[in-house]
Amino acid sequence: MPHKILEKTRLNSVMWKIVLEAPLVAKSARCGQFVIVKIDEKGERIPLTINDFDLKKGTITIIFQEVGTTTKRFGCLKKGDSVKDLLGPLGRPTDFGEAGKIILIAGGVGIAEILPIAKYAKNNANFVLTIIGSRSKELLILEEELKKYSDKLIVTTNDGSYGLKGLVIEPLRDTLAKEQFDLSYCVGPDIMMKAVSEVTKACNLKTFVSLDANMVDATGMCATCRVTVGGKTKFVCVDGPEFDGHLVDWDRFIKRQKRFVDEEKRSLELFKSQHKECIYRGGEDG
Ligand SMILES: Cc1cc2nc3c(=O)[nH]c(=O)nc-3n(C[C@H](O)[C@H](O)[C@H](O)COP(=O)(O)OP(=O)(O)OC[C@H]3O[C@@H](n4cnc5c(N)ncnc54)[C@H](O)[C@@H]3O)c2cc1C
Repeated sequence: MPHKILEKTRLNSVMWKIVLEAPLVAKSARCGQFVIVKIDEKGERIPLTINDFDLKKGTITIIFQEVGTTTKRFGCLKKGDSVKDLLGPLGRPTDFGEAGKIILIAGGVGIAEILPIAKYAKNNANFVLTIIGSRSKELLILEEELKKYSDKLIVTTNDGSYGLKGLVIEPLRDTLAKEQFDLSYCVGPDIMMKAVSEVTKACNLKTFVSLDANMVDATGMCATCRVTVGGKTKFVCVDGPEFDGHLVDWDRFIKRQKRFVDEEKRSLELFKSQHKECIYRGGEDG
């Protein structure tokens, strides 16, 4: 069933916010869940977090970064266009409830994925300290939105163009050296989630991570998204996407994430050569 793009907004040079018509998904969506989007008949199925949903309007909001063929193709669609299929809501909803003092850490497009978690945490009467990081000021998203749901917000950029210069791990270490927290939650590049999990493990702070695993069917059948957690095989699509960061076998997970790099590169090169007008179109909204 086609799902219409009702709004499309450029957030920066590589990220888009899209509001999709999806009444059935909006009806049962909960924080922490995701959808599988298939743009057209021949399209690849990609998982994207439900950033927000509106029951009355029957819409969901997704935010994505253009990284490969499918996300670039998605970026080429315009307001009024439709995506062919939308499957969801999928994954286990967030359920940490009232945990006390929570520290949220997010990087890159993970900032989009942490926003619903921050909203959930605040609505469940938690104290929320949020640390977000991006490569540069231009790539930083949702700072104002996150302020609404955070008691304190710390921003880092790798190049120092905004906030503290450096990586999120530095203010995380400083904060944990001074203050006690009850829970931490991290979404971002795999290497960042691994580093955060190592820091929080050293101070015995329970840590959830939301894994952006490669996924195909998203129903627990194909095993593409498998991950070892506490020595057991889990599937990100049905057992996750949230897992205990201290129990994830990070080295194995990161290695698995690189399995299709050559095919992904070839696919992107082919797409770029065929769609120059779409890829190099500059900064307009859809
Ligand atoms: C549960 C879940 C929720 C997700 N939610 C979101 C979301 O809300 N927003 C979003 O943008 N993405 C999200 N992702 C990741 C998203 O599904 C992938 O970025 C997408 O499938 C890439 O497809 P592609 O064909 O464009 O690129 P591919 O050809 O599949 O990948 C291209 C290359 O980009 C790399 N890559 C993949 N993701 C990233 C990244 N985030 N940053 C940098 N490099 C990357 C890959 O390793 C690969 O080498 C989520 C993934 C999961 C499992």
